[in-house]
Order: sequence, then structure tokens, then C-alpha cells
Amino acid sequence: MIDTHIHADSRSSEDFEQMFISGIETAVTCSYYPYKLNNEEVLLNHLERILYYDTKRASKYGLDLKVALGIHPTNLIKKPEIIFDKLHECLEKNQIIAIGEIGLENLSSDEIAIFKEQLKIADEAKTKVIIHTPRKNKLDVLKIIKNIVLENIDPNLAIIDHINSAVIEEIIDEKFTIGITVQPEKMDKEEAIAIFEKYGYDKFILNSDISNMPSDPLSVPKTIAEMKKLGISLNRINKIAFKNAKKAFKI
Ligand SMILES: [Zn+2]
Repeated sequence: MIDTHIHADSRSSEDFEQMFISGIETAVTCSYYPYKLNNEEVLLNHLERILYYDTKRASKYGLDLKVALGIHPTNLIKKPEIIFDKLHECLEKNQIIAIGEIGLENLSSDEIAIFKEQLKIADEAKTKVIIHTPRKNKLDVLKIIKNIVLENIDPNLAIIDHINSAVIEEIIDEKFTIGITVQPEKMDKEEAIAIFEKYGYDKFILNSDISNMPSDPLSVPKTIAEMKKLGISLNRINKIAFKNAKKAFKI
């Protein structure tokens, strides 16, 4: 199985062990710093920590961490160029499989400018972007994200994440990959499976988004186990468990 969106830096070794024992062989870890940033160097340090430290920490327990880096919309900094340079460098060295997570939260002009620039970097490098959609005003922000994405990047490269049944109609006909996050307080496995049954199994990737907030490191295997219990075909289960993610991230 592949968990397509986690925050490994805020999780324990015990989580990695449990995930691997439960059948998660690969996870995509995204950057997000949960506290105020005093300067750009703090964010740069966060990115390097994920690249060089958390990947090693997880691999001790068998979990293969693939890395996505970027400036999260709540991690705004005055001089983003230092991070843009780092992203270019990581893409050249094939150290990351996507830019992410990026997106919009409060719709400030700085936020929008940083979001657009990162979409352009991904488009130039023909790499995927993992795009966060917020909990509040989800539909309104999603509409703005959709328009900006369509103007700035090949839509085949965009993963729009944390989509739920209330907003899915807004993007289901676009070429985006859609991320479904099964997480306490956000979405249960039953809602996720209902979405796959209604909209088909080809457009979706599954994740836990485990972070410093309430989350379940086993939400992907629990959802896959529920699909098996319901008698959903192995071909469909495999698409959600790993095939769609392998194709999207070329891993
Ligand atoms: Zn996240």
C-alpha cells in the first residue's frame, strides 16, 4: 500500500513500524511547519530535515519515504526565493517526487503569489504538485484554486487533496488526480468508499495526512481492509491501494 500524504517529521518511530506491519510499504511525506517561522532559514532547515533525517528514520522500520517539498500556505515567509532555489536544486537532483504541500488557506495576495510561483516551478519540471484545500470555506477556496491551477500548470500534474463529497462535483470533470484523506474529524472510511463507488476508481489516491493534529496512521490499511470486507474487486482495490499513486508519482 502507499499512503500518499503524511507528515513524517511530526510522527514517531512506533507509527512507522505500525504502518509497515500493516502493509504500507511507501508513504509520501510533505513539508509543513506547524509553528511560526522566525525566518526563511527555519523553513529551509525543516525541508532538509525531511530530506535527510526523516527518510532515514522511517527506513529503519521498513517504510520507504518519498519526499514532496514546498511552501505550505500557512508557512508564508518574506523571502520565498531561498526556498524556490532549494526546490529547483532538489528537482535537478531527483530528491523529491512532487512539490507539496502547497495551496491556499486565507487567500492573501502573498499566499496567491507563492502558490502560483510553485505551480510554475512544477510545470517547468513536469513534476506533480500536491495541493492542499482548507477545512474552512472549502468550496470557495477550491474554486479559486481550480482557476489558478488551470491557468498555471498542466492539469495532469495537479493532485487536489483533502476532497470530500460536499465539494467533489467542482473538480470531478477536470484532469486532476484527486486525493482523499481519511482522518478523524475530517472523513471516515465509509465516506471515502462511497466516493469511489460513485465516481469510479481511476481518479483517486488515498492518504492519512498524519501530522501533529489528531490523525490515524493506519487509516489507509483500515480503508483498504473495509473495501475487501465489502467484496469490492481486487482490481479496484489495487488502484486505490497503490496503482493510481504509482502512476501519478512515477514510483
Ligand atoms: Zn498535509
